[in-house]
Amino acid sequence: MVRAIVVGAAGRMGGRVIHTIHESEGIEVSGAVERPDHPFLKRDVGEVVGLGEIGVLLEGDIEAIIEAGEVVIDFTNPGVSLKSLEVASRRGVAMVIGSTGFTPQQMEKVARLAKKTACVLSPNMSVGVNLMFKLVGVIARILRDEYDVEIVEAHHRFKKDSPSGTAMKLGEIIASALNRDFPQVGVFGRRGVIGERKPQEIGMQAVRAGDIVGEHTVIFGGLGERLEVTHRAHSRDNFARGAVRAAKWVTTQPKGLYDVGDVLGLK
Ligand code: NAD
Repeated sequence: MVRAIVVGAAGRMGGRVIHTIHESEGIEVSGAVERPDHPFLKRDVGEVVGLGEIGVLLEGDIEAIIEAGEVVIDFTNPGVSLKSLEVASRRGVAMVIGSTGFTPQQMEKVARLAKKTACVLSPNMSVGVNLMFKLVGVIARILRDEYDVEIVEAHHRFKKDSPSGTAMKLGEIIASALNRDFPQVGVFGRRGVIGERKPQEIGMQAVRAGDIVGEHTVIFGGLGERLEVTHRAHSRDNFARGAVRAAKWVTTQPKGLYDVGDVLGLK
């Protein structure tokens, strides 16, 4: 039985992760962490997420309960996830990070800390999206510079970062497949008389509306045709399932930084 500590346990994703673990074989919730001023601290986390009592209290400090877990699953924000990874890596506890919006400097820190423990980090834990990561690279290499690449993502109104981590990763994969430098060719929104589109551009557009769980479309626009690859998440459960699958997998892996492509054997 893999013992998992869930950080951000009362959040939208944290709640779904706890439900998914509860329904899964071979893994159990052994700890739950929220921000130190959360109103539900010291309550049973099962009750907090609408499952009923599971005998695990919501705590305000990961350091105090890290011994209770073999893996930490963290969907919070980059700053909090980095702190969780710092604590986990000191004790050799494995880690699954779902938070998005890491800066390049924060990513360097993640990579450094992951030398001390096995860590899966993915801006999108869904199986379909990770297959999409692979497919768009293949398509870009075949279509090469003849087709304009535009990435459109849509998320709920509460999302804090933009564009989504998934859209950024799609852009990076395609740029790398086309031998382009993504920070140089990424164009984030367009406005005004901007002139003709440059062939090297990779356009990024972000829609925020209502309760959209998450949609990503990559458009490869040619003359006379276009190819679109779209993924639509119907609920958060697909992310939670991917994270729980990653948590079981990562506890058996050597130290290092992995993504869901590694978990699924897509590499
Ligand atoms: P949310 O705001 O509902 O949940 C975040 C939780 O973290 C909140 O409950 C908050 O109180 C808690 N938190 C804040 N500070 C904390 C601290 N110091 N210690 C412990 N907990 C703390 O947000 P969400 O929709 O659940 O998303 C969380 C993150 O996961 C975001 O970065 C989002 O973009 C990302 N996300 C990733 C995937 C994926 O597949 N990788 C899918 C969905 C969301």
